[in-house]
Amino acid sequence: MGTTSKFDVVIVGAGPAGCSSAYLLARAGLRVLLVERGRSAGSKLLWGGKAYAQPIREVWPELDKEAPIHRWVTRERFSFVWGDRILTVEYKLGRSVAFTSYLPELVSWMARKAESAGALLVEDVRVDEIVVKDGRVVGVRSGDDVVRADVVIDAEGVNRMLLEKLGLAEKLDVNSGVALGVKETLSLDSKLIEERFNLDKGEGLSWLVAGDITRGLPGGGFIYTMRDSISIGLVIPIGPAAKAAEEGILKEHVSSLVESFRLHPYFNRLWREADVIEYGGRMTIEGGLSMMPRRLYAPGLLVVGDAAGFLVNTGYTIRGVDTAVYSGKLAAETVIEALSRGGFTEDNLKAYEDKVRRSYIYRELRNHSGVEDIMKDPFYFTKLPQVVVGAAGRLFEADYEEPTLIRSVVEASRDAGISLVRAFFKLARVVRRL
Ligand SMILES: Cc1cc2nc3c(=O)[nH]c(=O)nc-3n(C[C@H](O)[C@H](O)[C@H](O)COP(=O)(O)OP(=O)(O)OC[C@H]3O[C@@H](n4cnc5c(N)ncnc54)[C@H](O)[C@@H]3O)c2cc1C
Repeated sequence: MGTTSKFDVVIVGAGPAGCSSAYLLARAGLRVLLVERGRSAGSKLLWGGKAYAQPIREVWPELDKEAPIHRWVTRERFSFVWGDRILTVEYKLGRSVAFTSYLPELVSWMARKAESAGALLVEDVRVDEIVVKDGRVVGVRSGDDVVRADVVIDAEGVNRMLLEKLGLAEKLDVNSGVALGVKETLSLDSKLIEERFNLDKGEGLSWLVAGDITRGLPGGGFIYTMRDSISIGLVIPIGPAAKAAEEGILKEHVSSLVESFRLHPYFNRLWREADVIEYGGRMTIEGGLSMMPRRLYAPGLLVVGDAAGFLVNTGYTIRGVDTAVYSGKLAAETVIEALSRGGFTEDNLKAYEDKVRRSYIYRELRNHSGVEDIMKDPFYFTKLPQVVVGAAGRLFEADYEEPTLIRSVVEASRDAGISLVRAFFKLARVVRRL
């Protein structure tokens, strides 16, 4: 026999977005239920490892003191890899704006904050349906139990099956706009991490890698230093990978590509003696405006975080956690304002979409929308690394005559089988789009 209960707000999903809304709404005195299908908040989550602090501080100003931060990122590295030739660029930051962390720990901290503000967190419970009556969302259903609410906040993440059922989002097409992230965590003594990655105590590194580690497929690798572990992995768009597998070009599973990345001699010496302590994979959206559902609100409903398509992929960084937290904040503010304006009418909830469109999230998504096109173009993952690394080889591996820079680029382009003009236009596109 089912039961029915009533809350002011029910939030589906205790990820960064859901916890942020739950915390702010409970702090404002509302009766909030936060439902998580994982055994505990954060337990189902996996990411690369770097979060931008300032948007998160807007919800939790105590972040720096209290959150399970592993290292503050002070170095950004980027490498092009082709065979045993590697070109690496490093930027030493003047001030650190992002930190590394272990996502399950970070989200568990956020969930505890929501609970201590008064939200009721129920774990190991899956919401099966968002309940609609007379054209408005009135609650959620899990099995036979129905919980009624004045507002439901959908923070279910990238899979957004509840939104699909409601007809508010298209069915995810894995062949377009969706990528698979596979990662390993390697345990290593913190002193060894600092020595090998050239870091001062407590400092962190974020490192992106492109080239033949993905066997010519779009996508790339990441390396993040944690306190006493290293997170490494690959993010590969599913569509091109499936096509390459069908055509027999990709013969390995993505997990063996991650293993080859770990064993690559240039990188492997950095984590010699390390043990693989965690392994996992998770789907992610590639970013850009195309993943935003048709509407971010409906009568009685707001959509936040990955479910709303708020993952920014700039080509050199992935931002999903800070945008999720920030969208959770915008949703909470909308709910609080709606209460003082006479309730959760469609007009009052529409204010959320307006807030999103005025926020850095929307601007970032719009500014970097061209990244999806670049992610689809194999040129950037095969020819470009070949030209860059090939040109460096000509410059630095000459026994006698060192060619001029332009000659080395012309020759490397010829070796990669592309004309200099085409390479130039492709590069101009990257500069314009990223
Ligand atoms: C490989 C990889 C690397 C990444 N690297 C980074 C990075 O370095 N930096 C960064 O900022 N972002 C990164 N991201 C993206 C980031 O993890 C997400 O953008 C972020 O977690 C989104 O937060 P969210 O709260 O919207 O959704 P999620 O974190 O997905 O949380 C949704 C929660 O809802 C729960 N849930 C789902 N359905 C239901 C249901 N029906 N009932 C109850 N609970 C439900 C889930 O169990 C989950 O806990 C990465 C993602 C991947 C996959």
